[in-house]
Amino acid sequence: MEIISRRNTGKVYDAVIVGSGAAGGMAAHVMANAGMEVLVLEAGPQLDLYKDFKTHAWPYEEKYRGRLSPRDAHNYKYGFADGYTSHIYARLDENPYSTPEGKPFDWVRARAVGGRTLVWGRVSLRLSDYDFKAASHDGYGDDWPISYAEIKPFYDRVDRLIGVMGTRENLPQLPDGVFQKPQPLLCGETILKRGVEKTGRRLIPTRAGVTSEGVKGNRYRAACHYCGTCGRGCDVGAMFNSPTALLAPAKETGRLTVRPDAVAREVIIDRHTGRAKGVAFIDRKTKREYEAHGKIVVLGASTLESTRIMLNSKSRFHPNGLANSSGALGHYLHDHTWGVSFTGFAPPLKGREIVNEDGRPQGTYIPSFRNLDQASRQQKYVRRFGYQCGSGAGIFPGHARLIAGFGSSFKKEVLAWHPGVVRMGAFGEVLARRENRVSIDPNLKDAWGIPSLKIDIEYGDNERELTRDAIECAHEMFHAAGIELITENRAMFPPGHSIHEVGTARMGNDPKTSVLNRWNQAHDIKNLLVVDGSCFVSSGCVNPTLTILALSLRASEYAVEQFKRGEI
Ligand SMILES: Cc1cc2nc3c(=O)[nH]c(=O)nc-3n(C[C@H](O)[C@H](O)[C@H](O)COP(=O)(O)OP(=O)(O)OC[C@H]3O[C@@H](n4cnc5c(N)ncnc54)[C@H](O)[C@@H]3O)c2cc1C
Ligand code: SF4
Repeated sequence: MEIISRRNTGKVYDAVIVGSGAAGGMAAHVMANAGMEVLVLEAGPQLDLYKDFKTHAWPYEEKYRGRLSPRDAHNYKYGFADGYTSHIYARLDENPYSTPEGKPFDWVRARAVGGRTLVWGRVSLRLSDYDFKAASHDGYGDDWPISYAEIKPFYDRVDRLIGVMGTRENLPQLPDGVFQKPQPLLCGETILKRGVEKTGRRLIPTRAGVTSEGVKGNRYRAACHYCGTCGRGCDVGAMFNSPTALLAPAKETGRLTVRPDAVAREVIIDRHTGRAKGVAFIDRKTKREYEAHGKIVVLGASTLESTRIMLNSKSRFHPNGLANSSGALGHYLHDHTWGVSFTGFAPPLKGREIVNEDGRPQGTYIPSFRNLDQASRQQKYVRRFGYQCGSGAGIFPGHARLIAGFGSSFKKEVLAWHPGVVRMGAFGEVLARRENRVSIDPNLKDAWGIPSLKIDIEYGDNERELTRDAIECAHEMFHAAGIELITENRAMFPPGHSIHEVGTARMGNDPKTSVLNRWNQAHDIKNLLVVDGSCFVSSGCVNPTLTILALSLRASEYAVEQFKRGEI
């Protein structure tokens, strides 16, 4: 191992946490509020959310009209960063990774205090026992070591803490939460809903991690004012992000220190006890090496970054990577299928007066309806999919590209279509397979000399069959709603593109087959917690962040209790 002379940050914290997004932010919030001295190490810069978000910038104010500089676009090649947000996302030239030939993986990362919560899509849905106990339901893979009943109280508390808009629907596959006032459906969505209901399915307002009523006791959050530019970062803190919902209130305790520009390299292991002793990190700007010491180490650097840190933390006690006596570390990477999407037109809305209706933080959702019971059981695949939908006149009418012509007749046609465009896109479960994995690439390092990941994943027949069915069902629902299909994409995006990557340090009751126990604590090292999506056993078909928040809350409270009793 490389011998490095490191500066010590000079204090032994109760907890050193890596990452300040949903997972790390929640751990910091819980631990600082419980009286612990906490240090958060964050690889990216500290942004000023009021000055550095370009929430309301106009294209003509931007050098490339809101697009990426043509010279720099290859560093953000997955299509999420743009001219308004590139300062939030990770750059590929600084943060490289490799994939085997013909097996792409789109790894979308943020590098700033707050992580991806600064720009996330806000869809906030719960897993159910169809997911936690999926293997018992259909025989594939493994159950989680926890049930919905155990995590429900934590989901409820997360809902109250972050503010979630939504409606109670009493669907067992999509449990209800503690909701704030929902946003109403638009006309196109109401037309789609009628069609969806004709097929025996449901369409509901999307449950969004946005406060419509304010969050009691949090002066950093304001109620949503429906401006609709959430993807650039919300400069009033209406949409949940870690800095306003978690870190700022935790800093008020006086016990939380956030150190930005601190790129964690590895977890330091006490050479006598084999316990975690702290984290070695590199200053992003000066490239100097430091050590931060803590009684507990918490990894919340996002699914693959936490696993990378563990794989890079080899020692006499942990020769195959940290807490990897099971050999499961790095394996069972999975996410959600995404890509198949449909754009249609609702004829009754053609030429309707255009109103300001794009100022909303989310759209609508069609919950899963396959493989719930005997009647909905599919022969060709297991698990389920759901659709995110939307409609209405947006500020930049994307459908203009689908209309031929030019001049004033073209503009009239674009306007006539504008209120009636309806969109839906499917997200489906990807099975957790051992062979889909990450490892350290011996030939690749990042800008700070830290070995990078090799990501090796591909979809299988189950994902392909599930997607085929999602395409057919979408056609069926458009048809039932009288919506004319204008264009569609029938191909899945490469793995990773859903930005829902999970797994690689799975939890389980058996230390021989899992990395973490049911409390997100490493089986092999009691004072190491991993609180992000790497702990997932399976992903259901719903977006993961609400579950990451609930698990991090649960794990952190458990660790605080153990810490206070002197058991870790
Ligand atoms: C455009 C977009 C839309 C999305 N939409 C949704 C959605 O609608 N619903 C949903 O549930 N999820 C959505 N997501 C995903 C969601 O953002 C993530 O699931 C969530 O942020 C994960 O939280 P995390 O804390 O694990 O990781 P992150 O939020 O990514 O935070 C990890 C932090 O760790 C830091 N870090 C990484 N490595 C190191 C290191 N070595 N040293 C120090 N710090 C490090 C990073 O800089 C980052 O700040 C979306 C994401 C994006 C980008
Ligand atoms: S619509 Fe609401 S959540 Fe989105 S940016 Fe505007 S105020 Fe924030």
